[in-house]
Amino acid sequence: MASRRNFIEKLTVSAIGLPLAFNATGLFAASDRPYQGKTLRVAIMGLGSYGTRVAKAMKDCKRAKLVGVISGTPSKVETWQKEYGIPNKNCYNYENFDEIKNNPDIDAVYVITPNGLHCEQTIRVAKAGKHVICEKPMGINAEEGQKMVDACKAANVKLLIGYRMHYEPNTVAVIRMRKDGEFGKPKFFQGQSGFVIGDPTQWRLNKKLAGGGAMMDIGIYSINGARYMLGEEPVWVTAQETKTDTEKFKEGVDETIQFQMGFPSGAVANCLSTYAMNNLDRFFMTGSKGWMEMRPSTGYGPIKGRTHKGELDQPHTTHQTLQMDGMAELIFEGKQPIVPVNGEEGVKDMKIIDAIYEAVKSGSKVSLN
Ligand code: NDP
Repeated sequence: MASRRNFIEKLTVSAIGLPLAFNATGLFAASDRPYQGKTLRVAIMGLGSYGTRVAKAMKDCKRAKLVGVISGTPSKVETWQKEYGIPNKNCYNYENFDEIKNNPDIDAVYVITPNGLHCEQTIRVAKAGKHVICEKPMGINAEEGQKMVDACKAANVKLLIGYRMHYEPNTVAVIRMRKDGEFGKPKFFQGQSGFVIGDPTQWRLNKKLAGGGAMMDIGIYSINGARYMLGEEPVWVTAQETKTDTEKFKEGVDETIQFQMGFPSGAVANCLSTYAMNNLDRFFMTGSKGWMEMRPSTGYGPIKGRTHKGELDQPHTTHQTLQMDGMAELIFEGKQPIVPVNGEEGVKDMKIIDAIYEAVKSGSKVSLN
Protein backbone atom coordinates (compact mmCIF):
# COMPACT_ATOMS: atom_id res chain seq x y z
CA MET A 1 0.00 0.00 0.00
CA ALA A 2 2.78 2.37 1.05
CA SER A 3 4.80 1.73 -2.09
CA ARG A 4 1.70 2.15 -4.28
CA ARG A 5 1.07 5.48 -2.63
CA ASN A 6 4.71 6.56 -3.10
CA PHE A 7 4.42 5.64 -6.74
CA ILE A 8 1.24 7.69 -7.17
CA GLU A 9 2.81 10.65 -5.35
CA LYS A 10 5.93 10.58 -7.55
CA LEU A 11 3.94 10.08 -10.68
CA THR A 12 1.55 12.92 -9.91
CA VAL A 13 4.27 15.37 -8.95
CA SER A 14 6.55 14.67 -11.86
CA ALA A 15 3.67 14.52 -14.31
CA ILE A 16 2.39 18.02 -13.73
CA GLY A 17 5.34 19.68 -12.01
CA LEU A 18 3.41 20.94 -8.97
CA PRO A 19 4.44 20.82 -5.32
CA LEU A 20 2.85 17.95 -3.34
CA ALA A 21 -0.71 18.78 -2.42
CA PHE A 22 -3.23 16.47 -0.85
CA ASN A 23 -6.84 17.11 -0.07
CA ALA A 24 -8.66 16.04 3.10
CA THR A 25 -8.93 12.43 1.93
CA GLY A 26 -5.19 12.21 1.30
CA LEU A 27 -5.55 12.18 -2.47
CA PHE A 28 -3.97 14.68 -4.77
CA ALA A 29 -6.47 17.33 -5.72
CA ALA A 30 -6.11 17.85 -9.46
CA SER A 31 -7.71 21.28 -9.24
CA ASP A 32 -5.02 22.60 -6.82
CA ARG A 33 -2.85 25.13 -8.60
CA PRO A 34 -0.18 27.42 -7.15
CA TYR A 35 -1.80 30.69 -6.03
CA GLN A 36 -1.09 33.47 -8.48
CA GLY A 37 -3.14 36.33 -7.03
CA LYS A 38 -2.13 39.22 -4.80
CA THR A 39 -0.18 38.54 -1.60
CA LEU A 40 -0.89 40.41 1.63
CA ARG A 41 2.49 41.70 2.80
CA VAL A 42 2.42 41.85 6.59
CA ALA A 43 4.62 43.39 9.28
CA ILE A 44 4.23 41.95 12.77
CA MET A 45 4.37 44.38 15.70
CA GLY A 46 5.45 42.70 18.95
CA LEU A 47 7.73 39.69 18.53
CA GLY A 48 6.55 37.81 21.60
CA SER A 49 5.12 34.37 22.07
CA TYR A 50 1.98 34.77 19.96
CA GLY A 51 3.73 36.86 17.31
CA THR A 52 6.21 34.01 16.91
CA ARG A 53 3.37 31.51 16.48
CA VAL A 54 1.70 33.66 13.83
CA ALA A 55 4.98 34.16 11.95
CA LYS A 56 5.62 30.39 11.84
CA ALA A 57 2.05 29.71 10.69
CA MET A 58 2.41 32.29 7.92
CA LYS A 59 5.18 30.22 6.34
CA ASP A 60 2.38 27.98 5.03
CA CYS A 61 0.14 30.79 3.82
CA LYS A 62 -0.70 31.05 0.15
CA ARG A 63 -2.01 34.60 0.20
CA ALA A 64 -0.13 36.28 3.06
CA LYS A 65 3.59 36.76 3.72
CA LEU A 66 5.60 38.12 6.61
CA VAL A 67 7.76 40.92 5.19
CA GLY A 68 8.45 43.25 8.13
CA VAL A 69 8.76 43.65 11.90
CA ILE A 70 8.16 46.33 14.51
CA SER A 71 9.87 45.60 17.80
CA GLY A 72 11.50 47.17 20.83
CA THR A 73 14.11 44.40 21.02
CA PRO A 74 16.95 44.66 18.45
CA SER A 75 18.22 41.12 19.14
CA LYS A 76 14.81 39.66 18.19
CA VAL A 77 14.74 41.75 15.03
CA GLU A 78 18.11 40.32 14.01
CA THR A 79 16.91 36.73 14.59
CA TRP A 80 13.67 37.28 12.69
CA GLN A 81 15.49 38.94 9.80
CA LYS A 82 17.61 35.83 9.40
CA GLU A 83 14.72 33.39 9.82
CA TYR A 84 12.28 35.16 7.49
CA GLY A 85 14.63 37.01 5.12
CA ILE A 86 13.36 40.43 6.22
CA PRO A 87 15.33 43.37 4.73
CA ASN A 88 16.56 46.24 6.96
CA LYS A 89 14.23 48.69 5.24
CA ASN A 90 11.20 46.75 6.62
CA CYS A 91 12.35 46.84 10.27
CA TYR A 92 10.96 49.43 12.69
CA ASN A 93 10.77 50.15 16.40
CA TYR A 94 7.97 51.71 18.48
CA GLU A 95 9.39 55.22 18.04
CA ASN A 96 9.79 55.27 14.26
CA PHE A 97 7.05 52.96 12.91
CA ASP A 98 4.95 55.91 11.67
CA GLU A 99 7.49 56.01 8.81
CA ILE A 100 5.93 52.82 7.50
CA LYS A 101 3.69 55.15 5.51
CA ASN A 102 6.59 55.65 3.12
CA ASN A 103 7.09 51.93 2.63
CA PRO A 104 5.23 50.62 -0.42
CA ASP A 105 6.28 47.03 0.35
CA ILE A 106 4.06 46.63 3.43
CA ASP A 107 0.25 46.35 3.14
CA ALA A 108 -0.76 45.60 6.71
CA VAL A 109 0.52 45.60 10.28
CA TYR A 110 -0.48 42.83 12.70
CA VAL A 111 -0.49 44.30 16.25
CA ILE A 112 0.45 41.52 18.71
CA THR A 113 1.51 43.53 21.76
CA PRO A 114 -0.05 43.77 25.25
CA ASN A 115 -3.76 44.75 25.16
CA GLY A 116 -3.24 48.18 26.74
CA LEU A 117 -1.08 49.26 23.78
CA HIS A 118 -3.38 48.13 20.95
CA CYS A 119 -5.48 51.30 20.68
CA GLU A 120 -2.67 53.82 20.34
CA GLN A 121 -0.63 51.52 18.07
CA THR A 122 -3.60 50.73 15.82
CA ILE A 123 -4.43 54.39 15.39
CA ARG A 124 -0.82 55.18 14.47
CA VAL A 125 -0.76 52.36 11.90
CA ALA A 126 -4.06 53.58 10.42
CA LYS A 127 -2.67 57.10 10.16
CA ALA A 128 0.29 55.62 8.29
CA GLY A 129 -2.21 54.32 5.74
CA LYS A 130 -1.78 50.58 6.38
CA HIS A 131 -4.46 47.98 7.10
CA VAL A 132 -4.49 46.81 10.70
CA ILE A 133 -4.94 43.32 12.07
CA CYS A 134 -5.11 43.59 15.86
CA GLU A 135 -5.07 40.84 18.44
CA LYS A 136 -7.92 40.21 20.82
CA PRO A 137 -9.02 41.89 23.01
CA MET A 138 -8.89 44.79 20.54
CA GLY A 139 -8.35 47.27 23.39
CA ILE A 140 -9.11 47.56 27.07
CA ASN A 141 -12.71 48.81 26.76
CA ALA A 142 -15.39 49.57 24.17
CA GLU A 143 -14.48 53.26 24.05
CA GLU A 144 -10.97 52.39 22.86
CA GLY A 145 -12.41 49.87 20.41
CA GLN A 146 -14.71 52.47 18.89
CA LYS A 147 -11.82 54.96 18.57
CA MET A 148 -9.88 52.30 16.66
CA VAL A 149 -12.82 51.61 14.34
CA ASP A 150 -13.28 55.35 13.71
CA ALA A 151 -9.58 55.94 13.05
CA CYS A 152 -9.39 53.11 10.53
CA LYS A 153 -12.53 54.32 8.78
CA ALA A 154 -11.16 57.87 8.61
CA ALA A 155 -7.90 56.56 7.13
CA ASN A 156 -9.77 54.28 4.72
CA VAL A 157 -7.97 51.17 5.90
CA LYS A 158 -9.38 47.87 7.14
CA LEU A 159 -9.38 46.93 10.82
CA LEU A 160 -9.55 43.18 11.50
CA ILE A 161 -9.37 41.43 14.88
CA GLY A 162 -7.38 38.21 15.32
CA TYR A 163 -10.44 35.99 15.82
CA ARG A 164 -8.78 32.81 14.55
CA MET A 165 -11.73 30.58 15.57
CA HIS A 166 -13.86 32.21 12.89
CA TYR A 167 -11.71 30.32 10.37
CA GLU A 168 -11.40 27.03 12.29
CA PRO A 169 -13.09 24.23 10.29
CA ASN A 170 -14.94 22.37 13.10
CA THR A 171 -16.17 25.66 14.56
CA VAL A 172 -17.33 26.75 11.10
CA ALA A 173 -19.09 23.38 10.63
CA VAL A 174 -21.06 23.82 13.88
CA ILE A 175 -21.99 27.41 13.03
CA ARG A 176 -23.21 26.20 9.61
CA MET A 177 -25.35 23.54 11.31
CA ARG A 178 -26.85 26.19 13.58
CA LYS A 179 -27.55 28.45 10.59
CA ASP A 180 -29.16 25.51 8.75
CA GLY A 181 -31.47 24.97 11.73
CA GLU A 182 -30.05 21.58 12.66
CA PHE A 183 -30.13 22.39 16.37
CA GLY A 184 -33.61 23.88 16.12
CA LYS A 185 -33.93 27.02 18.25
CA PRO A 186 -30.69 27.49 20.22
CA LYS A 187 -31.64 27.62 23.91
CA PHE A 188 -28.55 27.39 26.10
CA PHE A 189 -24.81 27.91 25.73
CA GLN A 190 -22.15 27.04 28.24
CA GLY A 191 -18.59 28.32 27.83
CA GLN A 192 -15.67 27.51 30.10
CA SER A 193 -12.41 29.26 29.36
CA GLY A 194 -9.39 29.24 31.61
CA PHE A 195 -5.90 28.20 32.60
CA VAL A 196 -3.61 28.66 35.58
CA ILE A 197 -1.47 31.73 34.98
CA GLY A 198 2.19 31.59 36.05
CA ASP A 199 4.71 34.40 36.53
CA PRO A 200 3.06 37.08 38.73
CA THR A 201 5.20 39.84 37.15
CA GLN A 202 3.95 39.33 33.56
CA TRP A 203 1.98 42.04 31.74
CA ARG A 204 -1.20 39.90 31.76
CA LEU A 205 -1.44 40.61 35.52
CA ASN A 206 -0.75 44.33 35.14
CA LYS A 207 -4.02 46.29 34.98
CA LYS A 208 -2.58 49.05 32.79
CA LEU A 209 -1.18 46.72 30.14
CA ALA A 210 -3.84 43.99 30.31
CA GLY A 211 -6.95 46.11 30.95
CA GLY A 212 -8.19 43.50 33.44
CA GLY A 213 -7.45 39.86 34.07
CA ALA A 214 -8.68 36.50 32.79
CA MET A 215 -11.81 38.01 31.23
CA MET A 216 -9.76 40.14 28.79
CA ASP A 217 -7.42 37.32 27.89
CA ILE A 218 -9.40 34.08 27.91
CA GLY A 219 -12.97 34.79 29.06
CA ILE A 220 -13.42 36.71 25.79
CA TYR A 221 -13.46 33.32 23.99
CA SER A 222 -16.62 32.30 25.85
CA ILE A 223 -18.23 35.68 25.10
CA ASN A 224 -17.37 35.54 21.42
CA GLY A 225 -18.29 31.81 21.29
CA ALA A 226 -21.71 32.38 22.88
CA ARG A 227 -22.44 35.00 20.22
CA TYR A 228 -21.35 32.91 17.21
CA MET A 229 -22.86 29.69 18.50
CA LEU A 230 -26.24 31.17 19.45
CA GLY A 231 -26.25 33.62 16.53
CA GLU A 232 -27.63 36.51 18.60
CA GLU A 233 -26.38 39.52 20.54
CA PRO A 234 -26.95 39.49 24.31
CA VAL A 235 -29.28 42.08 25.87
CA TRP A 236 -28.24 41.68 29.50
CA VAL A 237 -25.45 40.27 31.64
CA THR A 238 -25.02 39.29 35.27
CA ALA A 239 -21.64 38.38 36.77
CA GLN A 240 -20.00 37.24 39.99
CA GLU A 241 -16.29 37.39 40.84
CA THR A 242 -14.24 35.05 43.00
CA LYS A 243 -10.72 36.03 44.07
CA THR A 244 -8.59 33.64 46.12
CA ASP A 245 -5.20 35.35 45.69
CA THR A 246 -5.29 39.12 46.18
CA GLU A 247 -1.50 39.34 46.01
CA LYS A 248 -1.30 37.92 42.47
CA PHE A 249 -4.62 39.34 41.24
CA LYS A 250 -4.53 42.97 42.29
CA GLU A 251 -7.37 45.50 42.13
CA GLY A 252 -8.87 45.49 38.63
CA VAL A 253 -7.24 42.18 37.63
CA ASP A 254 -9.87 39.43 37.70
CA GLU A 255 -8.95 35.88 38.66
CA THR A 256 -12.31 34.10 38.19
CA ILE A 257 -15.64 35.47 36.96
CA GLN A 258 -18.82 33.52 36.37
CA PHE A 259 -21.19 35.34 34.07
CA GLN A 260 -24.55 34.90 32.45
CA MET A 261 -25.93 36.48 29.29
CA GLY A 262 -29.52 36.76 28.13
CA PHE A 263 -30.48 36.90 24.44
CA PRO A 264 -33.56 38.37 22.70
CA SER A 265 -34.95 34.91 21.79
CA GLY A 266 -34.88 33.88 25.44
CA ALA A 267 -31.69 31.83 25.01
CA VAL A 268 -29.23 32.09 27.89
CA ALA A 269 -25.50 31.55 28.32
CA ASN A 270 -23.67 30.59 31.48
CA CYS A 271 -19.90 30.99 31.36
CA LEU A 272 -16.75 30.78 33.44
CA SER A 273 -13.57 32.77 32.88
CA THR A 274 -10.55 31.99 35.04
CA TYR A 275 -6.81 32.26 35.57
CA ALA A 276 -7.00 29.71 38.39
CA MET A 277 -8.06 26.40 36.79
CA ASN A 278 -6.36 24.36 34.10
CA ASN A 279 -7.91 22.51 31.15
CA LEU A 280 -10.98 24.70 30.94
CA ASP A 281 -11.68 24.91 27.24
CA ARG A 282 -15.21 23.68 26.60
CA PHE A 283 -18.31 24.84 24.72
CA PHE A 284 -21.73 23.21 25.00
CA MET A 285 -24.92 24.29 23.31
CA THR A 286 -28.35 22.79 23.21
CA GLY A 287 -31.31 23.75 21.06
CA SER A 288 -34.85 22.54 20.59
CA LYS A 289 -33.72 19.79 18.17
CA GLY A 290 -30.07 19.02 18.86
CA TRP A 291 -26.86 19.80 20.73
CA MET A 292 -23.12 20.17 20.37
CA GLU A 293 -20.16 19.85 22.69
CA MET A 294 -16.63 20.98 21.84
CA ARG A 295 -13.61 20.21 23.97
CA PRO A 296 -11.12 21.66 23.33
CA SER A 297 -13.15 24.45 21.81
CA THR A 298 -10.73 27.35 21.33
CA GLY A 299 -7.18 26.09 21.95
CA TYR A 300 -4.69 25.85 19.10
CA GLY A 301 -6.18 22.52 18.11
CA PRO A 302 -7.02 20.02 16.96
CA ILE A 303 -10.49 21.20 18.01
CA LYS A 304 -12.62 18.22 18.95
CA GLY A 305 -16.24 17.58 19.70
CA ARG A 306 -19.52 16.10 18.64
CA THR A 307 -23.08 16.98 17.95
CA HIS A 308 -26.27 14.91 18.20
CA LYS A 309 -25.35 13.76 14.67
CA GLY A 310 -21.88 12.44 15.49
CA GLU A 311 -18.21 13.41 15.82
CA LEU A 312 -16.89 16.64 14.33
CA ASP A 313 -14.52 15.45 11.63
CA GLN A 314 -13.01 18.43 9.83
CA PRO A 315 -9.24 18.04 9.35
CA HIS A 316 -6.99 20.20 11.50
CA THR A 317 -5.02 22.99 9.86
CA THR A 318 -2.98 25.53 11.81
CA HIS A 319 -5.53 28.19 12.77
CA GLN A 320 -3.30 31.17 12.12
CA THR A 321 -2.47 29.93 8.59
CA LEU A 322 -6.17 29.75 7.74
CA GLN A 323 -6.80 33.07 9.44
CA MET A 324 -4.09 34.98 7.58
CA ASP A 325 -5.05 33.51 4.19
CA GLY A 326 -8.68 34.33 5.00
CA MET A 327 -7.83 37.88 6.01
CA ALA A 328 -5.86 38.39 2.80
CA GLU A 329 -8.94 37.27 0.85
CA LEU A 330 -11.09 39.62 2.89
CA ILE A 331 -8.79 42.61 2.32
CA PHE A 332 -8.25 42.07 -1.40
CA GLU A 333 -11.48 40.40 -2.51
CA GLY A 334 -13.96 41.39 0.19
CA LYS A 335 -14.66 37.73 0.99
CA GLN A 336 -16.18 37.59 4.48
CA PRO A 337 -15.75 34.65 6.89
CA ILE A 338 -18.89 32.98 8.34
CA VAL A 339 -18.68 35.29 11.38
CA PRO A 340 -17.17 38.77 10.93
CA VAL A 341 -13.64 39.56 12.07
CA ASN A 342 -13.92 43.33 11.66
CA GLY A 343 -13.41 46.05 14.23
CA GLU A 344 -17.17 46.32 14.88
CA GLU A 345 -17.17 42.64 15.91
CA GLY A 346 -14.38 43.45 18.36
CA VAL A 347 -16.33 46.38 19.81
CA LYS A 348 -19.31 44.07 20.49
CA ASP A 349 -17.13 41.86 22.68
CA MET A 350 -15.62 44.89 24.43
CA LYS A 351 -19.09 46.25 25.27
CA ILE A 352 -19.99 42.93 26.87
CA ILE A 353 -16.73 42.88 28.85
CA ASP A 354 -17.43 46.44 30.08
CA ALA A 355 -20.93 45.31 31.15
CA ILE A 356 -19.56 42.21 32.92
CA TYR A 357 -17.13 44.34 34.95
CA GLU A 358 -19.98 46.73 35.77
CA ALA A 359 -22.19 43.80 36.85
CA VAL A 360 -19.40 42.46 39.10
CA LYS A 361 -19.11 45.88 40.77
CA SER A 362 -22.81 46.59 41.14
CA GLY A 363 -24.03 43.04 41.74
CA SER A 364 -26.96 43.85 39.44
CA LYS A 365 -28.17 42.82 36.03
CA VAL A 366 -26.68 45.17 33.40
CA SER A 367 -28.64 45.95 30.27
CA LEU A 368 -26.80 45.99 26.94
CA ASN A 369 -28.87 48.29 24.82
P1 NDP B 1 4.06 38.29 24.92
O1 NDP B 1 4.36 38.93 26.23
O2 NDP B 1 4.62 36.95 24.65
O3 NDP B 1 4.56 39.25 23.74
C1 NDP B 1 4.19 40.59 23.66
C2 NDP B 1 5.27 41.35 22.89
O4 NDP B 1 4.85 42.70 22.80
C3 NDP B 1 6.61 41.40 23.59
O5 NDP B 1 7.42 40.29 23.34
C4 NDP B 1 7.21 42.68 23.04
O6 NDP B 1 7.77 42.40 21.76
C5 NDP B 1 6.00 43.56 22.77
N1 NDP B 1 5.84 44.62 23.78
C6 NDP B 1 5.82 45.94 23.50
N2 NDP B 1 5.68 46.66 24.62
C7 NDP B 1 5.62 45.78 25.63
C8 NDP B 1 5.48 45.94 27.04
N3 NDP B 1 5.37 47.15 27.61
N4 NDP B 1 5.46 44.84 27.80
C9 NDP B 1 5.55 43.61 27.25
N5 NDP B 1 5.68 43.41 25.91
C10 NDP B 1 5.72 44.49 25.11
O7 NDP B 1 2.48 38.29 24.77
P2 NDP B 1 1.62 37.41 23.76
O8 NDP B 1 2.32 37.29 22.49
O9 NDP B 1 1.20 36.18 24.45
O10 NDP B 1 0.30 38.33 23.61
C11 NDP B 1 0.28 39.46 22.77
C12 NDP B 1 -1.16 39.74 22.31
O11 NDP B 1 -1.65 38.61 21.59
C13 NDP B 1 -2.17 39.96 23.44
O12 NDP B 1 -3.09 40.94 23.07
C14 NDP B 1 -2.87 38.63 23.59
O13 NDP B 1 -4.19 38.73 24.10
C15 NDP B 1 -2.87 38.14 22.16
N6 NDP B 1 -2.89 36.67 22.05
C16 NDP B 1 -3.80 36.09 21.22
C17 NDP B 1 -3.86 34.74 21.09
C18 NDP B 1 -4.82 34.12 20.15
O14 NDP B 1 -4.94 32.90 20.14
N7 NDP B 1 -5.51 34.89 19.31
C19 NDP B 1 -2.99 33.87 21.88
C20 NDP B 1 -2.03 34.57 22.68
C21 NDP B 1 -2.00 35.93 22.77
P3 NDP B 1 9.10 43.15 21.26
O15 NDP B 1 10.17 42.71 22.19
O16 NDP B 1 9.27 42.64 19.88
O17 NDP B 1 8.83 44.62 21.31
